[in-house]
Amino acid sequence: MANPLFDALFAPLEGRTRPLMYLPGDATLSGDAFHAMCLRAAGALKAAGLKPGDRVAVQAAKSPHMLAVYGGAVAAGVVFLPLNTGYTPEEIGYFLEDCGASLLLADPARAEALGPMAQRCGARLETVAPDGTGSFDALAAAQPAAFDVAARGPEDLAALLYTSGTTGRSKGAMLTQENLLSNARVLTEEWRFTEGDVLLHALPVFHTHGLFVATNITLLAGGAMIFLPGFDLDAMIGWMPKATAMMGVPTFYTRLLDDPRLTHELTGHMRLFVSGSAPLLAETHMAWEARTGHRILERYGMTETNMITSNPHDGARKAGTVGFALPGVELRIADPATGAPLPAGETGMIEVRGPNVFKGYWNMPEKTAEEFREDGFFITGDLGRIDEDGYLSIVGRQKDLIITGGYNVYPKEIEQMLDDAPGVRESAVIGVPHPDFGEAVLAVLVPEPGASPDPVAIAAGLQGRIARFKQPKAILLIDSLPRNTMGKVQKNLLRAQFSDHFAAPQARASRSNGG
Ligand code: AMP
Repeated sequence: MANPLFDALFAPLEGRTRPLMYLPGDATLSGDAFHAMCLRAAGALKAAGLKPGDRVAVQAAKSPHMLAVYGGAVAAGVVFLPLNTGYTPEEIGYFLEDCGASLLLADPARAEALGPMAQRCGARLETVAPDGTGSFDALAAAQPAAFDVAARGPEDLAALLYTSGTTGRSKGAMLTQENLLSNARVLTEEWRFTEGDVLLHALPVFHTHGLFVATNITLLAGGAMIFLPGFDLDAMIGWMPKATAMMGVPTFYTRLLDDPRLTHELTGHMRLFVSGSAPLLAETHMAWEARTGHRILERYGMTETNMITSNPHDGARKAGTVGFALPGVELRIADPATGAPLPAGETGMIEVRGPNVFKGYWNMPEKTAEEFREDGFFITGDLGRIDEDGYLSIVGRQKDLIITGGYNVYPKEIEQMLDDAPGVRESAVIGVPHPDFGEAVLAVLVPEPGASPDPVAIAAGLQGRIARFKQPKAILLIDSLPRNTMGKVQKNLLRAQFSDHFAAPQARASRSNGG
């Protein structure tokens, strides 16, 4: 039966004896073995009572077993909902309730903490472990390595990825088979991926970058990946000579640049370095070229749209730009207020239309309608400009989104918690430049009159309530927040005031000396 995504990505693995994954400890996993794991996972989803269209939520460490749940979900027609491993049980509860997932798969070590919440949300809880010893792994192992793949059409949902909005509450972006497959096809072609490629894969697989961009392309091209549980400098450097391509967030590149082992020789076997998910500084681009001889290819996209633009594989890769709209993707720069297209060279809202653009937010028809123009263009919230050569640059974000180490943080959620802390009158959370994370979360607090809130105690109070990457790297006290005549906090002024906060000490000192 037809299931375009499964047929294109997973079915071709059957009988492939070549490795699909190179794993830490010099183990390998063949395409055929992974194919069997996916079909067994599909059988386990079915045995757990899930039918096509049902949702499976997964908060588990990156491993082949975890990824096989993705393949299994596609085979079974079940909607795959991967969740950031940093989310707290309270945060997970929101997703389960919102999308009505009937099954939650988690790491064995977290099962106890997640149990009461899963029960409250009416979701069955099973475990997935990197070594295959979870309860869901056992259920999968008991299934045959054959599965009657569910029939699915291009418009059927394949995945639900939660992405935060300006309100602080996450929305589930509904991604169809066609959304994922069209983007994988275009990128495979644009970036010249073939079965000879070995991708150095250190990105998380709960996010569009590591899951769809990196994994789907490798699968579609018939390539292989060095599948690492996370970013580890020594592991990256150790594996680099065996890889042909790497995809990373800018933090990967700055961390590698900080290591003297990064040289021309180390990267001699590589053919492509891709960066995305957050802005890559032009100076990082140039430093990388000077050290390795490779020009990083920067691309731009988001959860809702998959990838939108890319610098060219063959033409000039312009530092500080994200390149051109991908084939089949329409892009325009529009007046943020009216949606009227703006002339070339002007800064405005980036809007996009094409087979890559999601179907809408789960159970939020009004929110979905607000983010689309009448002619079907999606309003990204990013502000951009197209230069005289047609390259798009991202100049800012209309939303207050902070991107720290490739993870998105929306200030509102944290501000609400800070405002509730004793002695705090109000707060503002901003992103400021950080040498390692790109941007770091910084909070400023205005005390109640006569009060002196303790930033250390307030920081401690956030632990366990929100994921670590969302927790402010610094909490500072100030007298008042700058506001415009409409009473709106001027975060741009705060960002300017604290832009040096995480700068290297010598840079800060030389600037304050007028150097
Ligand atoms: P996410 O949905 O987590 O992938 O985050 C999407 C957001 O990340 C976009 O709306 C942009 O604001 C930002 N983003 C992605 N790629 C880039 C890039 N190459 N340069 C600057 N910002 C980017």
